[in-house]
Amino acid sequence: MASIKEHPIEKINASVATTETLPARDRRVHIIGAGPMGLLLAALLQPMEGLSVHLYEKRREYTRTRMVQLSSYLVADSVESYRADHIDGDNVVAVFEPPELDEGLAFRQTLPSDLMALLQQWTLGFCPLNAIEHALSDLIDARKSNAVQRTAAVVTPEEAMTMLMPGDILIDCTGSRSLLRDHMVPGEVEGANTLTIRLEYALVIAFLYGQKYDCNEYCKYNKNIENPRYKFIPMVHRTHYDGSVSHVTGIVNITAEEYQAMPSRFDGEWLRGNFPDAAQSMDRFIDKIKEETHGEILGDLEIVRIPLDLYRARNATSRLWRAANHVDHPFVSSPVFLAGDSAIGSPYFQSISLGFECAMFLAGLIAQRDLPLRDMLDRYELYTYKQWLRVYMRSKMIKHNKDLFETIDDPLALLDKLHIY
Ligand SMILES: Cc1cc2nc3c(=O)[nH]c(=O)nc-3n(C[C@H](O)[C@H](O)[C@H](O)COP(=O)(O)OP(=O)(O)OC[C@H]3O[C@@H](n4cnc5c(N)ncnc54)[C@H](O)[C@@H]3O)c2cc1C
Repeated sequence: MASIKEHPIEKINASVATTETLPARDRRVHIIGAGPMGLLLAALLQPMEGLSVHLYEKRREYTRTRMVQLSSYLVADSVESYRADHIDGDNVVAVFEPPELDEGLAFRQTLPSDLMALLQQWTLGFCPLNAIEHALSDLIDARKSNAVQRTAAVVTPEEAMTMLMPGDILIDCTGSRSLLRDHMVPGEVEGANTLTIRLEYALVIAFLYGQKYDCNEYCKYNKNIENPRYKFIPMVHRTHYDGSVSHVTGIVNITAEEYQAMPSRFDGEWLRGNFPDAAQSMDRFIDKIKEETHGEILGDLEIVRIPLDLYRARNATSRLWRAANHVDHPFVSSPVFLAGDSAIGSPYFQSISLGFECAMFLAGLIAQRDLPLRDMLDRYELYTYKQWLRVYMRSKMIKHNKDLFETIDDPLALLDKLHIY
């Protein structure tokens, strides 16, 4: 990882004051977690005048090599291209007001060109997660002015609170097991600030294939004809032809019991030895790819088993602390925001794009020095809620389509899942 330096966590006694707008001094922004979200936010805020950005990360290296893909709406330059996805397009118009869409697109135009170039590259096809992290980290370190102050440490909630001076901004980017989600609400009980909808359990199977390979819905059907269960479903656009190598990532639905009986990650051999029916379905699918395109799998299959959850923080900011006016609590005088997987999580490989979208909006709010804090908090809450509605609708539609696909050759089972007026 690029030059994370050792620093003790700063402990600064926050005096109590309620600030309505940004302080005159340089405003300190503390970003906890330097995964993709924390790094993007740091890269967005770093060039802004009047901000001093502090980034805290507990990992010493970026080791996650899983392939991820970002949505093209991240680099859209018009409303049309922003809503190009056929499942998402109408949802976007239903949820967002035209000025909101325009504001988001206008902020994109102001992104530093080094950052925009990276985003454009990542929306073209698959990319290892740690390549995104390395690229953002290197970009931050390479900039000549406004150095981001980095701290290598595990931050505790107590440390996060005591490091704050009135008017500082704190952004929690610590991922799905968010450091501060439970602390956003006065008197909060554990887990109460999280709404979770479990859609299914799945195997995520990824491999490299030594030939160009692409797959549409006909291909998914034809290659699964002999698989009554455990249909292997490569995601739409989940393959990217990279010179002579294709990256393939597919998901296979499993039961809760099967999920419990599996380790969190394993290879093809383990699956064949322990869940032969699931392995046969996957192997049949892969054999058909090989018949068609005469290639070979490069290396081994990488398999993880995950619950596919949709979740959101009911409160993605500390605004309830301000409303309660607990004057002795640091979140009264310093706004706190949850970003990325800390705030919202979604299945079907949408999370980073969703998180980046909310991060860009938050950066746009912080850039407005005269914006009253209350407005900043309210606007971020509303925006994240709308992005949640958007991803909720898209995910439910994908799940519904997947359910129909699972029984596509059994008309009665299929009709059971339909509701047609
Ligand atoms: C198998 C799989 C495949 C996926 N594929 C895709 C895909 O194709 N497209 C997509 O959009 N998404 C995908 N995702 C989801 C994606 O990986 C996450 O949405 C993304 O990593 C979230 O980024 P984040 O920065 O919010 O959180 P994280 O990536 O979880 O980063 C959080 C960071 O905070 C640090 N941290 C945590 N606690 C502390 C602490 N107390 N102190 C200091 N540092 C701390 C962590 O070390 C970490 O670096 C996939 C997920 C899985 C499991």
